Amino acid sequence: MTIRILSPEVASQIAAGEVVERPASVVKELVENALDAGARAITVEIAAAGRTLMRVADDGVGIPADELTLAVERHATSKLVSADDLFRIATLGFRGEALASIGSVSRLTITAHTHEASAGARLRVEGGMIGKVEKVGAPVGTVIQVEDLFYNVPARLKFLKQDGTERRAIDALLTRYALAYPQVRFKLSEGNTPSLQTSGDGDRRAILAALYGVDVARQMLDVVSEEEGYRLSGFISPVALTRSNRKEITFFINGRWIQDTPLTAALIQAYHTLLMVGRYPLAALFLEAPPGEVDVNVHPAKAEVRFRNPDKVFSFVQRSARRAILAYTPVPQAALQNLWGSVPSGPWQADPAWDLAHDTGRRPGLNDEGLFPSGQQSSAIPPSSEDTQIPVPGQVPLLRLIGQIGATYLVAEGPDGLYLVDQHAAHERVLFEKLMAQHEKKSIPSQSLLTPAVVDLPPAGARLLEDQLTVLEHLGFQIEPFGNNAFQVRAIPALFTNSEPAGALRALVEDFEEDEAPLQNEIEARIAARVCKRMAVKAGQVLNPEEQRALLNDLETCLSPRTCPHGRPTMIHLSVDMLERQFGRKGPR
Ligand code: ADP
Ligand code: MG
Repeated sequence: MTIRILSPEVASQIAAGEVVERPASVVKELVENALDAGARAITVEIAAAGRTLMRVADDGVGIPADELTLAVERHATSKLVSADDLFRIATLGFRGEALASIGSVSRLTITAHTHEASAGARLRVEGGMIGKVEKVGAPVGTVIQVEDLFYNVPARLKFLKQDGTERRAIDALLTRYALAYPQVRFKLSEGNTPSLQTSGDGDRRAILAALYGVDVARQMLDVVSEEEGYRLSGFISPVALTRSNRKEITFFINGRWIQDTPLTAALIQAYHTLLMVGRYPLAALFLEAPPGEVDVNVHPAKAEVRFRNPDKVFSFVQRSARRAILAYTPVPQAALQNLWGSVPSGPWQADPAWDLAHDTGRRPGLNDEGLFPSGQQSSAIPPSSEDTQIPVPGQVPLLRLIGQIGATYLVAEGPDGLYLVDQHAAHERVLFEKLMAQHEKKSIPSQSLLTPAVVDLPPAGARLLEDQLTVLEHLGFQIEPFGNNAFQVRAIPALFTNSEPAGALRALVEDFEEDEAPLQNEIEARIAARVCKRMAVKAGQVLNPEEQRALLNDLETCLSPRTCPHGRPTMIHLSVDMLERQFGRKGPR
């Protein structure tokens, strides 16, 4: 093939790929431009999750009519003159690329009016073709409208995720910018109801509720810390409030939302030994650093920065967060509580005397469909005297319950040695198989709640839940939208009636966020597995002997009793042979 220079059109579409990946990245660039223009109010309207329309209106300084054409040229910016400026940059933009990029892959209309001009002006760009500037009436400020994103690059269109996912990305983005700029009024809407609206009164706590929901926001701890020109402010979670992923950790550095920053690791370190393995804090932190200490020009979408002295910043963040955590947390109890879920209130269940005294029968709230069917009380048989009974792989033999240890594991004896059963994983498996069996028969009994539980969610979470309402309904939930980003749980699958529905629902939404677009046909099984995980007894939950036995019995009847629906083992087997070797009764000395 001959080497040739790309046509400007193709070149700009390629360049656009770096900046414009999805609707949310367009919104990000436009919102940053509005902030750079000194806007006090920013209104974002979208249609079809941003695919057909994104309109960002601001009341900033506007763009003079005779500069409009320049604004959509590549490398045209009013924010930077020399490369040195990069190290004292106070604006979010500086590359002069966003409008050109967006204009090359959409139908872009800019309407702007500056304070000095008598009228406004409008310019359209379609797939990179720049039109003529027209005079129009418009309020002071700028309105940028982007229609039919990627209409001329079908290949990129294919990479967009489901509407729900794209919409969530926009929600998440705007909520975070609203939090970073509390003195600016933000509004986001699709159709008539705004999903986010802030007052611009500078109160970050109020906006925090939009990000996390009211309950979580209330629990977040304040961080304020200053040192040698660095300042850290914002919110972090107390040790009792955690997530299974790092997605709720947000960092803004000098007003920019930075993703995947090493500072996330610094924050997590601040919680060292205070959180269980695999749990992460929530945070929305705003770091102000001297501009000369930060290189902002390391990423086309400006989503990363580099520090001149990373260790110093790292340690500053870690110490500041740690101080805030310790100031609010009575450490030993909190750590213990976290480890045990709820602190066990009595001696170990393995004590038979205590067992007897404590064996009050069924737990309140259990129903007949429920966790621990009361039918078979002691079907576990004593171990067979013939040691030849080898368990079928994948199945479990009949087990004789010995007791519960650490309020977490069941100890049982089988024909070939000792079994340690993880009560949570085992219960997950049991619930999952029951639920899926009912689901197959299309007869999941659901149980109305006496008092419907109301759950407040952050906008992004609310969108997620909305997307999955039908699936949850198939699984026996009855959940209805209940005002702005709130939901009312009216019924849950009868299998779960002993669990706390609001908490479980919130946890479910958190799980939804972990993977973006699951395959449609996998969704039900996957959501069922998650529901079961949330509804299953927890590690740290004291079970009475009847419950322990019922759990073992149920596990014995499972088709795949050896793993939980997520693939983790439900039990560990210590065979007689292994015990003998360990105690030196058998084998080489
Ligand atoms: P950058 O933000 O890196 O300068 P952009 O392509 O995003 O590059 O914007 C180009 C120029 O257009 C900006 O430098 C600014 O002068 C002008 N501009 C863009 N959006 C706005 C806005 N909302 N209000 C005022 N001026 C704007
Ligand atoms: Mg810009």
